[in-house]
Amino acid sequence: MRHLCAVPLLLALALALGLTACSASPADPDAAEERTQFLAMDTAMTLSLYGENRTEALSAAESLIRDLESRISRTDPDSEVSRLNRGETVEPDGDLNTLLRLAAYFRERTGGAFNIGVAPLADAWGFTTDRHQVPDPAEIRRLIQVVEETWPKDTPEGRVLEPGQAIDLGGIAKGYTADKLADLLHTYEIPRAMVSLGGNVLAWGDRPGGTPWRVGVQDPARPGNPGAFAGVLELKDAFAVTSGGYQRYFEEGGKTYHHILDPSTGYPADSGLTSVTVVADCRIRGEDVPNEYFGTLCDAFSTAFFVMGEERALDAWRESWRNDCDLVLITGDGRVVVTEGLAESFTLDEGSGYTLEIIS
Ligand code: AMP
Ligand code: MG
Repeated sequence: MRHLCAVPLLLALALALGLTACSASPADPDAAEERTQFLAMDTAMTLSLYGENRTEALSAAESLIRDLESRISRTDPDSEVSRLNRGETVEPDGDLNTLLRLAAYFRERTGGAFNIGVAPLADAWGFTTDRHQVPDPAEIRRLIQVVEETWPKDTPEGRVLEPGQAIDLGGIAKGYTADKLADLLHTYEIPRAMVSLGGNVLAWGDRPGGTPWRVGVQDPARPGNPGAFAGVLELKDAFAVTSGGYQRYFEEGGKTYHHILDPSTGYPADSGLTSVTVVADCRIRGEDVPNEYFGTLCDAFSTAFFVMGEERALDAWRESWRNDCDLVLITGDGRVVVTEGLAESFTLDEGSGYTLEIIS
């Protein structure tokens, strides 16, 4: 068996161009960059901040990420999520409460395609431990039922899961973190920033000089080459989150199995899509759940739409989400499907071999 893990993602190009920007005049603090890179939430994070308060904001941003991680990580045995997954009753703090509320909302709004209850399935496939294996079909059938029933019950003492149930916030945590970082950048009056949390990008403001940030969309057919893009998005003030099977997978018996699981089959999603990018405005703060949390929305939908496939994803987008987000869907049959709000922002890489469809 081959164990493979391709580090993704959208962003080498964005980061390279962000770096170029740091040569701007240090006399203008809005053009002066400070950057940090570290590993957290099981991925590489890069934060480039500009402006007078960039140093304090950068250090606050790193603390925010590490603090959130310590509370929601599945691999840290002391986190609230690990305690819940061990069957302990947990009084969730503000963030976990919000994450559970959002997870419930997106589970309902995606017909169960997004489901944090997939944790025991992810374990059975070995994605949590990197001891990958194809589970026994009877075990998969049993776990589909467990996932279906999983929800941390509200009791007077706090939240609790039934034995065998577990939650995994991996499909939503980085988007939620991006939302919190957007609030932080606002508080510190940061004029521009490029933040990459694995496949989750926050393109805050514009680049020095006033041009948009350039965010490469990885070509899922060339996962070994993180500089191979299907196209490039030019973005200002946006979240852009990509999910793709190429981001984490293993091979067994000549077949490839990836980490985004279809809760209805128990197997890695096989919907015909090879990657989904969801883009939304990062400055809007509204009343209802998705509008306050556009980064989380992008993260939940990139995972869910990957599971749902082109037709269901586009139906859902047309029916409910066209005012909230735009999509770049890459299909296994060589098409890049872009929703109309990104028609001007997306440029296909001519050498990639894909054909471009703009849809409304
Ligand atoms: P993402 O990269 O945001 O698409 O999230 C993928 C991660 O979310 C996986 O590594 C799992 O931890 C978790 N996950 C896998 N399948 C699902 C699903 N159908 N719904 C919610 N979370 C999932
Ligand atoms: Mg996601």
